[in-house]
Amino acid sequence: MGSSSLVRVLLYLIMPAISSQKTYRVGRSKTGLGLFATKPIKKGTRIIRYFGPILDSRIPEQDDIENKYLFELNGRWTIDGSVRKNLARYINHSCRPNAESDVRPRERKVFIRAIRNIEPGDEINYDYGTDYFKAYLKPIGCKCESCEKKRKKLRAEARAERAKVKARTEAKAKKAGTKSTAKKKKLNGKHFAGKVGRARA
Ligand SMILES: [Zn+2]
Repeated sequence: MGSSSLVRVLLYLIMPAISSQKTYRVGRSKTGLGLFATKPIKKGTRIIRYFGPILDSRIPEQDDIENKYLFELNGRWTIDGSVRKNLARYINHSCRPNAESDVRPRERKVFIRAIRNIEPGDEINYDYGTDYFKAYLKPIGCKCESCEKKRKKLRAEARAERAKVKARTEAKAKKAGTKSTAKKKKLNGKHFAGKVGRARA
């Protein structure tokens, strides 16, 4: 056996052990629980499989199952990811994610794969898609970091705009105030006082 094939055999023996080493853990996120990287995860790496019983939409009692962990593979097949062992169900949605779902309808499998380099401690996110977003997130407002940042920015802009309007209004009022007192003074000095004087007389 050449040394290169020996290396290959060793790699073959070692690799499953390495790839089964978890790169994630369940932890507290802003919106409840989430999945977090415990090791650096390179862009393109498969992180975890999203798994559970496969539901057939043509079978009424399977089609009736409803929970928020359903992952639709296509018009017919759906993964029910609500099973406890499916840790991928903890992965939260993000509009600007660091992972994506690699959907394989033919194999009826879904893998979550890194689309950016992920650092230890980073929360792992993927985009749940428009249907989920419309049904579950839009009504309550998306809490993902990207949306929170956007909201924060909008709030800051609105605050700045209000401050500007307030300052402008105050400046106008001040100007109007000085004008009206100037007018009043004039009135008091001449016509107004005169009128009052005449009325008294
Ligand atoms: Zn969002």
